[in-house]
Amino acid sequence: MRLPCPFCGPRDSAEFAYLGDAAIARPDAAAPDAPRLFYEATYLRDNPAGPHREHWYHAAGCRQWLVVTRDTTSHEILAAAFARQP
Ligand SMILES: [Zn+2]
Repeated sequence: MRLPCPFCGPRDSAEFAYLGDAAIARPDAAAPDAPRLFYEATYLRDNPAGPHREHWYHAAGCRQWLVVTRDTTSHEILAAAFARQP
C-alpha cells in the first residue's frame, strides 16, 4: 500500500507509523465520569467497513502527522492531508 504524503509524494506504507482512528475526540479529564469516558475512548472502538479517517505518522520521511481517508475494504486511499495545517 502506498500513501500520498502531501510533502513527500507517494511512499510505501512501511515508512509510516499507524496510530488509528482520527475521529476520536479526547474526553474532558475534568469530567466527573472521566475514567469511564477514557476507557470508552481507548478500548471501545468501531471497526468500520468502508471509508475511515486515520492518523499516520511519516516516520521515515517528513515526520509529519497525516489524516488519511482509507477504504478499509479495498485499501484505496481517498484523501491525505497534514493533520495540523499551518
Ligand atoms: Zn512525508
